[in-house]
Amino acid sequence: MLASTSEIYGDPIVSPQSESYFGNVNTNGPRSCYDEGKRAAETLFHDYNKVYGVDTRIIRIFNTYGPYMSVEDGRVVPNFIQQALKNIPLTLNGDGKQTRSLQYIDDLISGINYVMKDGIPHTPINLGNPNEMSILELANRIIKLTKSNSTISYQSLPKDDPKQRNPDITLAKRLLCGWHPLIKIDEGLLKTIEFFKSSI
Ligand code: UDP
Repeated sequence: MLASTSEIYGDPIVSPQSESYFGNVNTNGPRSCYDEGKRAAETLFHDYNKVYGVDTRIIRIFNTYGPYMSVEDGRVVPNFIQQALKNIPLTLNGDGKQTRSLQYIDDLISGINYVMKDGIPHTPINLGNPNEMSILELANRIIKLTKSNSTISYQSLPKDDPKQRNPDITLAKRLLCGWHPLIKIDEGLLKTIEFFKSSI
């Protein structure tokens, strides 16, 4: 199984992103080694399947969060939760209008199990939660759920930061016995907040 990524769609100009979309990826930027590395890995999986008959699965994992993420992870959910719990400003990159669709870890794990059981060799499958929201909305939601006094500190937007990301999970739902994400955003964030309360 290849843990591939929504990053193979780059900064998508099509939304939501279905598996048939080839992506909009910069070959020469700060995210390129990750994005192109994952794209090359998909190609290798394709060829090992076609040439040597290796039984492969490819999962394109969209933004996932939950308890046990590293405090030092640097991604948006751990950063915002820690900052909110410490009542320090949330570091929001850009104007916060860029979107992400956040998937709770348990939904990803159940999706992976289904893919290993029912997935089709080689066929890439998106696993994510289509609950798209702006990063500003996420910041405000975390401030509210933590009952924090934090404000928002606007930072510059990193180069090639995707403007939108939203999984089309039609294929996953069709192939994987009706799998679909079960955990709503507030429920998942509250569980994650409890974890960070005990770990920082
Ligand atoms: N982000 C932010 N503040 C942070 C960390 C991330 O505003 O402290 C933004 C980041 O610029 C991006 C979004 O949140 O627009 C998601 O970032 P993350 O690194 O979690 O995931 P990715 O960009 O790989 O989807």
